[in-house]
Amino acid sequence: ATPTALLVGTGRGAQLGILIKGPEVLESTRKVDTIVLDKTGTVTTGKMTLVEVVTADGVDRTELLRLAGALENASEHPIAQAVARAAAQEVGALPTLEDFAAVEGKGAQGVVEDHAVLVGRESLLADWSQPLPTELVRRKASVEQTGRTVVAVGWDGQARGLLVVADQVRPTSRDAIAQFTALGLAPVLLTGDNRTVAEQIAAEVGIGQVIAEVLPADKVDVVRRLQAEGRVVAMVGDGVNDAAALAQADLGLAMGTGTDVAIAAADITLVRGDLRSAADAIRLSRRTLGTIR
Ligand code: ADP
Ligand code: MG
Repeated sequence: ATPTALLVGTGRGAQLGILIKGPEVLESTRKVDTIVLDKTGTVTTGKMTLVEVVTADGVDRTELLRLAGALENASEHPIAQAVARAAAQEVGALPTLEDFAAVEGKGAQGVVEDHAVLVGRESLLADWSQPLPTELVRRKASVEQTGRTVVAVGWDGQARGLLVVADQVRPTSRDAIAQFTALGLAPVLLTGDNRTVAEQIAAEVGIGQVIAEVLPADKVDVVRRLQAEGRVVAMVGDGVNDAAALAQADLGLAMGTGTDVAIAAADITLVRGDLRSAADAIRLSRRTLGTIR
């Protein structure tokens, strides 16, 4: 395409809410055959709310909310913020946190009122020999079937309960994914979240391939692996933990609602936070470069 056509193409993109970093981006956009989608904040809004508290036998709900809330108050994770917000609303001021460590892709740990507290994936509690009692295992599995994320809470050497958080699938996601498929792109859902939850969300929006329970640092390897299979990969993400994968992808697209780090790593920003803009970008590049099919 002529430089003028590319310039016109990027200008048209801006009108559609697609910010394109440079003329060469349209060329890579055209060749993409696989679109990897981060789940939280990309396919979903990422605005989590705490919808249910499940306590193990003999555990006091208020105590669970105070301890988990105090710990999560120190974490930036969207799940943590939902937990801390709801806990403060229900129990009032949260106790002071003595010590805090984020456990990447798994949760958080810290000390609250002399209790060693864990909140996060079941595997985080398992790392500290705090298996879930059978009734909680059963409850967790049935809630996950509904697409909701469940995190476990433990303190002083024992699992004590579950917190259920709900996220919302973006109303535009399903339509966007139908458009990707119509354009000949294979959609793949990529997430650190639990497999059951990921599969439920994927079914809801029409994504056939799911890669779940991936640690933040390993998302980039998933992109590399797909490229090694000969695929030309677009990746759409919003989080700090997506930045490396966005840079590695043949085409990186950041949600405009996402973090600055993701936006900086991407080739294209979807200003409106609408996944359908990614389909617009593909169509625009094919049209600009004269390869409509
Ligand atoms: P995603 O790829 O969905 O954005 P992350 O890699 O950020 O997920 O986290 C993976 C999983 O680890 C979450 O789904 C959650 O179960 C757990 N997790 C991580 N951080 C926290 C936290 N602060 N509180 C509770 N759970 C957490
Ligand atoms: Mg995300």
